[in-house]
Amino acid sequence: MTKMPPSPRSVYDIAIIGAGPTGATLALAAAQTGFSVLLVDGRDPEKMRADGRNFAIVRGSWRLLAGCGATEGLLEHAQPLNGLEASDGGTHWFGAPSALFTAEDLPEDADGTPLGFMIEAPRLQGALDAKLAGEPNIDWRQKAAFTGYEREAGLVAVSLAEGEVNSARLLVGCDGVHSPVRQAAGITVEGRSYGKSVFAANVALSRPHDGIARQLFTPEGPFATLPLAGDRANLAWYMKSGAAEVLAGLSAGEIEAELNGRFADFAGEMRLEGKAVSYPLELKIANAMVGPRVALVGDAARRINPLAGQGLNLGFKDVAALVEVLEDGRHKGLDIGALNVLEAYQDWRRFDANATALGLDAIDRIFSNDHAVLKPLRAAGLVLADKAGFVRRTLARQASAQQDSLPRRMQR
Ligand SMILES: Cc1cc2nc3c(=O)[nH]c(=O)nc-3n(C[C@H](O)[C@H](O)[C@H](O)COP(=O)(O)OP(=O)(O)OC[C@H]3O[C@@H](n4cnc5c(N)ncnc54)[C@H](O)[C@@H]3O)c2cc1C
Repeated sequence: MTKMPPSPRSVYDIAIIGAGPTGATLALAAAQTGFSVLLVDGRDPEKMRADGRNFAIVRGSWRLLAGCGATEGLLEHAQPLNGLEASDGGTHWFGAPSALFTAEDLPEDADGTPLGFMIEAPRLQGALDAKLAGEPNIDWRQKAAFTGYEREAGLVAVSLAEGEVNSARLLVGCDGVHSPVRQAAGITVEGRSYGKSVFAANVALSRPHDGIARQLFTPEGPFATLPLAGDRANLAWYMKSGAAEVLAGLSAGEIEAELNGRFADFAGEMRLEGKAVSYPLELKIANAMVGPRVALVGDAARRINPLAGQGLNLGFKDVAALVEVLEDGRHKGLDIGALNVLEAYQDWRRFDANATALGLDAIDRIFSNDHAVLKPLRAAGLVLADKAGFVRRTLARQASAQQDSLPRRMQR
């Protein structure tokens, strides 16, 4: 029998593994900049439709998505975020302090964008997928699995489970918290389990939320209501491991009784919509964001405490920074997979992302207990944030991706 010659390989500028929110956005931004992209994703479209997550997309992230043309048709389903309120659930001699951040704490915005938007995960993914399908510079392999890569002269050879092998100058892992790309590159992770889980559900509220995201800090952990269109909200209640799982497993009537018994004064009466879920909290930070011809983006680089909804927004900052570094590298005639080009991306992103991850970790520790010293300190912190304009403005700029070091695609 004659042996068949191997099928010819395509050579791409960038091979991206994972077409979740960060991978899809990176593929679009890179392709629209003129890079040829191989995009590989193993997700199951059925499961995606049942995804109950809701993302808080802050102002800078929204600009990145809008620049890729992915917000067309999204606005009508998005709930504008008009403010963020943090309240201390403890009791103090001066009452229960709280701090409210609004769009007024941010610099004037000519396009009138609010602090951000709340958007349901399937809607965001649907908008990104529709855009991907029409992008000529992207070859999109759906329901395909990345299995490994090998380095070759000036390239990486990327293998898929289906036997296909292609070459690229750069391999990017946008493949989530367990990142097969990170593992194949031998990049290790540090982290810890919080010993906590999140109870999450969508509810209809008996009173208007006015577009305000609210967090109430209780000794067990924060309880958050994130506004959804039509006076509905996405709840996140952080509890000890095991408790959230038990609560999510109760009947709708039992869950509503528990929620309303504890939080009706804070949020209004809540009526459950759809299924409640629970998931464990973990902190995972990759020890490097780049290696020879490899870069990590989004949850592949870190999984943080979802408190304040910053996880995906950090991933979007990675996307915007990486495209900018690659574009500038190409402009200077550099090899986009070379380590010195990729290190510029890591230097830019690593400190900001790790500081956010560790900052949220600290907030979680400070607010989730009744320690005799920490309790008055955190109350004083909220009073300071509420009364001191510059503290509020600094926090609001950080949370909504408005700092001066922002990538171009996220700036006004
Ligand atoms: C319940 C919940 C609620 C959350 N809420 C918020 C929020 O409100 N705001 C916020 O900012 N963040 C939130 N987060 C965090 C957010 O979900 C993540 O930060 C975000 O999904 C990360 O996006 P990503 O594209 O990096 O990775 P993912 O969304 O995990 O996507 C990874 C992709 O890689 C693909 N993949 C993996 N392995 C392979 C392989 N071998 N071959 C091919 N493809 C592969 C997967 O199919 C998937 O499509 C939440 C997380 C959870 C669990």
